[in-house]
Amino acid sequence: MNRSTVLAALLTAGLALAPFGDHVIADEQPLFGYSAESSRAERQWEEKLRTIPSTDNLRAYMQRLSARPHNIGSPYDKDNAEWIAAKFKEFGLDTHIEQFDVLFPTPKERVVELVEGGSRFVAKLQEPVLPQDLTSNQQSEQLPTYNAYSIDGDVTAPLVYVNYGIPEDYEQLERLGISVKDKIVIARYYHSWRGIKPKVAAEHGAVGCLIYSDPHEDGFVPGETFPKGAYRPPDGVQRGSVADMPYYPGDPLTPGVGATKDAKRLKIEEAPTITKIPVLPISYADAQPLLAALTGPIAPEGWRGGLAITYHVGPGAAKVHLKVKSNWATQPAYDVIGRISGSTFPDEWVIRGNHHDAWVNGAEDPISGLIAVLEEARALGELVKSGWKPKRTIIYCAWDGEEPGLLGSTEWAEQHYDELRAHGVAYINSDSNGRGYLDIEGSHTLEKFSNDIWREIPDPETKLSAWKRQQLREIANAKTAEQREEIRKRTDLRIPALGSGSDYSAFLQHDGVASLNIGFGGEDGGGIYHSIYDDFYWFTHFSDTDFVYGRALAQTGGTAVMRLADADLLPFEFRNLADTVQTYLKELKTLSQKTQDDIRERNREIEEGVFKATNDPKRPLVAPAVEAVPPHLNFAPMENAVEALTRSAGEYHKALEQASANGGAALASASLVQVNKMLIESERKFTTAEGLPNRPWFKHQLYAPGFYTGYAAKTVPAVREAIEQKQWKRADDAIVVVGHVLEDEAALISSAAQKLSAAK
Ligand SMILES: [Zn+2]
Repeated sequence: MNRSTVLAALLTAGLALAPFGDHVIADEQPLFGYSAESSRAERQWEEKLRTIPSTDNLRAYMQRLSARPHNIGSPYDKDNAEWIAAKFKEFGLDTHIEQFDVLFPTPKERVVELVEGGSRFVAKLQEPVLPQDLTSNQQSEQLPTYNAYSIDGDVTAPLVYVNYGIPEDYEQLERLGISVKDKIVIARYYHSWRGIKPKVAAEHGAVGCLIYSDPHEDGFVPGETFPKGAYRPPDGVQRGSVADMPYYPGDPLTPGVGATKDAKRLKIEEAPTITKIPVLPISYADAQPLLAALTGPIAPEGWRGGLAITYHVGPGAAKVHLKVKSNWATQPAYDVIGRISGSTFPDEWVIRGNHHDAWVNGAEDPISGLIAVLEEARALGELVKSGWKPKRTIIYCAWDGEEPGLLGSTEWAEQHYDELRAHGVAYINSDSNGRGYLDIEGSHTLEKFSNDIWREIPDPETKLSAWKRQQLREIANAKTAEQREEIRKRTDLRIPALGSGSDYSAFLQHDGVASLNIGFGGEDGGGIYHSIYDDFYWFTHFSDTDFVYGRALAQTGGTAVMRLADADLLPFEFRNLADTVQTYLKELKTLSQKTQDDIRERNREIEEGVFKATNDPKRPLVAPAVEAVPPHLNFAPMENAVEALTRSAGEYHKALEQASANGGAALASASLVQVNKMLIESERKFTTAEGLPNRPWFKHQLYAPGFYTGYAAKTVPAVREAIEQKQWKRADDAIVVVGHVLEDEAALISSAAQKLSAAK
């Protein structure tokens, strides 16, 4: 039987497998990176682990942790950190709280009003108490609705609607002949990370920015609104950070170093990640009168939201007064760190984390993920009590200050940079959880490993394996026959690359520690994100109400941590990696070609008079200008490197097959210590000391959040963004840099293959 049929058979047996102790399948394929003997023991321990997480515990943890607002700097944030630390200790983890001191502004004054043109209107900027929702009335502890790290400001100006406020929208505005210079823009949430909206607005000369939740995205268009349904009520507001995190995340005052008491700090005025213009988020109840007061061109079709108004772009006679003033205080961030020391390789660290701070009560974000982390820690503690000894050190983390800017995790990963570079095997993150499909994203060196984990986890609703369910979902969603073919035939599902938006960022993109992000979702839409209604009442009525997906997440995280911690040979794999990098190279070549073709075609249409002929004089559009056709880029350095990478991935695979023969005795040999060190190094090799052009904090050359998208990953960012930004010289230079990085990676993998072949 090949590997997948064995696994399929195991999964069909599912939970009916005999309990811990007496389950033996004679021809069972050993786990990846395990000898036959260690694989048998590992499977038994892992099966035991997966029986431990309890839905009652998960529910009780959530009720306790989300009982009061617990943003960074609040009394209940500290209380929660201490409670989590006490739990970790009770479970047997060697635990401490590590404190950093970070800049965290909270609002003092907020004003949005319509002052000219039409009836006067003052925005409420307040989410109402709901009688059935028992924590919605904790107003004295709730942070007001605001965007953290908005600069202070007081501006009055005409308003312009900019759709999602991303660069394409400004191209459209240019065609419409509308400038945002000296205007206040109003953008809707979604389609980019929120901090991109004020950044792009300021680049175009705007003086202020409002961000509102259109009902089209997460309000009454997709579903009934809270409390009748899960979606955003008219006065619900999405809080959130607008710091320029694609430049660097973490404390704005201490880039690259831990924000300890006596760290060297920038002055607030010098901090480059604070916005250039004032920003406030508003509800759709508050946005409607502002949008209704706009005149000017009718908004293009894709710009129209769900409100019962005709969407205009503006401006109009209406002027908006926007005032934001914050209290720029330093607050303590409490990271809870719990450790189980490794018995054989204590200096190899497997790290697992989820944040504990929220914008308000945060039952979904982040507590639904954190409670799984707690149950994993309890389960691992129980295994240790019954004799399990992980080979590697396991570190469980509950981060503070994720919401304002990945503060706790970034400061920790900066403070412990040298140790993490030396010891970090992998970091596994989660950040909230819901019903549906198991999503795994991350480093492609761990793609095969991720698929192995996926296959172990039964989906609570369908009883299929989470892997099978995900594969069938991907088939359903595939756009072409080729895509479906690949999903059906490829042994492993592809995992998406990580952009940013959660605590893995510093581990992966700054320290070069291979990282994964895990979580269930896709069946539990809603519109309470970052509002006072993200609480225990909402979660237990509209999300994973019986906590079976919480249990599944604890099973997933726990299994992944154990398997990395116990492996004889770390389960890094490079054929999937090489295949992925190959697809990136293809995409870049296509992108470069398409950019040329598009410019050539547009120039031709300008010459043919297409834009003049199709211009409606009553709704005039500005014709685009002729642009120089970009030069051909030289992709040879990357092409050669990708070939080298593919070759060495094959060599490593062959060496691994040899080492796995005859029960994999070679895998248990002490001579693998060096190979494991090289495997750990394999993600570090993707980083460069200089980092990305213009944002040196981001050191990884394969993955980064897009400078103009924020959450979404840009793969091979130095090359891809140079092409997108039409910086041809920079693109050519970046291809050379990435080529070197990939050549180095290939050389490392070849040496690991040689060392592995020599293992006895
Ligand atoms: Zn979160």
